[in-house]
Amino acid sequence: FAGGALAAKLTVATDTNFPPFEFKDSSGKHTGFDIELWDAIAKQIGVDYTLQPMDFNGIIPGLQTGQLDVGIAGMTIKPERAEVVDFSDPYYDAGLLILVKSDNEGIQSVEDLKGKVVSTKLATTSADFVKEKAQAKDVKLFPNNDAMFLELMTGGADAVIFDSPVIAEFMRTAGKGQVKVVGPLYMGQSYGIAFPKGSELVPKVNAALKKLKDDGTYLALYRKWFNTDP
Ligand code: GLN
Repeated sequence: FAGGALAAKLTVATDTNFPPFEFKDSSGKHTGFDIELWDAIAKQIGVDYTLQPMDFNGIIPGLQTGQLDVGIAGMTIKPERAEVVDFSDPYYDAGLLILVKSDNEGIQSVEDLKGKVVSTKLATTSADFVKEKAQAKDVKLFPNNDAMFLELMTGGADAVIFDSPVIAEFMRTAGKGQVKVVGPLYMGQSYGIAFPKGSELVPKVNAALKKLKDDGTYLALYRKWFNTDP
């Protein structure tokens, strides 16, 4: 490969747990849609990398200081972030959902969160949304998904607000039969891969993403991890 900064092994940050985009499988290996999509992109570009799972709120600072070369973590493209990091073209469309315990009859929408306790993740679009739209009594911000969901399951919060595909996955797995989604899909948003400002990887990754969309690789990964078509 032709020299420059890209000749070195890239450090690629991902969230510790954001299924089905990234999570540890039963053998302890990190896998998921983001992980496999990135691997296909890296092969396409011809770069070597080390995966670095970390709390989501550390990824943007790590890109800003240049300790990380890439962040792929179901990260929403938003203007405030685009001022400090560069984003690839969007690769997944999502929104936010409200999750409550199955027997909760009092919460039907974001308006009903008035005076309630809401659990979500630190430094995410859900944290922004709760602060702007929910008149909650308390917003508990956790560094990872496990603590965020546990707070609802153990009665420390009345609701979780979080990314729709992750909520759907939780309902299908750990939360099965114990939780339900209420209200509409809020705050439509697209995920992008993030880079330090000015990274020469951005055009290469966008070209690779386009190639993988054209040749069916992206669709196959999407179907594998979401059991549906984009
Ligand atoms: N999509 C959300 C955001 O970018 C959450 C991402 C995450 O928790 N990994 O803020």
